[in-house]
Amino acid sequence: MNTNRTKGFLLDLFFPKFCLGCQKEGSYLCEDCRSTLDICQFNYCLCDKPIRLSLSSKNGKCSACQDKKLSGLCYALPYKEKQLTRKLIYQFKYPPYLKDLAKTLASLIIEHLILSGKNTDDIWENSVLIPVALHRKKFNERGYNQSEELARELSKILKVPILVDCLIKTKSTKPQMESSKEERETNLQNAFIIKNSTTDQSVVLNKKVFLVDDVYTTGSTMQECAKILKQSGAKQVWGICIAREG
Ligand SMILES: [Zn+2]
Ligand SMILES: [Zn+2]
Repeated sequence: MNTNRTKGFLLDLFFPKFCLGCQKEGSYLCEDCRSTLDICQFNYCLCDKPIRLSLSSKNGKCSACQDKKLSGLCYALPYKEKQLTRKLIYQFKYPPYLKDLAKTLASLIIEHLILSGKNTDDIWENSVLIPVALHRKKFNERGYNQSEELARELSKILKVPILVDCLIKTKSTKPQMESSKEERETNLQNAFIIKNSTTDQSVVLNKKVFLVDDVYTTGSTMQECAKILKQSGAKQVWGICIAREG
């Protein structure tokens, strides 16, 4: 047994995991409960009324969304449909903070990428993963950025590098779900900045960026992040999340 496995074994012994669906011991999501989740097999546009895109299309958007900064969106599950989906995401973000749910949640995203034909070398070529930033206050409260944990797991599996500390949230904003659409957009203006390393060159220059977040609600956050990433020279900005609202 290698050290990591021994550590994992000991952790499981002292802090056993229970399925969030049926309480069965062993993991956060047992095989039976996992099979009840309807993982997205298709690609949908990021607009309000999701339009199904053809699998062969390299374009992640419908014709009405061409002006949006985000190139497209990948998500594994519809948010509202199942209580289990909401519970998995809730426990990842709120007490008792199951931080290592990131592995389970990342595996759902990977399954979606495989089912929808997006796990190909040319998609990940010249790409970086960037987690949507949390404001420092929120980070200290939770002790981690859930999007960063998720992006780290995706990075290990996809072998796509992750850039942390590049996208920074400088303004503390109300949770998306508690504010109106107008409020959200004004709140988010100039809420994020891009911090480059010591060199003058932008870290995202000519890169395909995959922004990672837990839930896509109206898309205001991702659009705002995409805007500044593009201003910093990113070639394309795509969104990846566990679930989508609506
Ligand atoms: Zn279960
Ligand atoms: Zn659209």
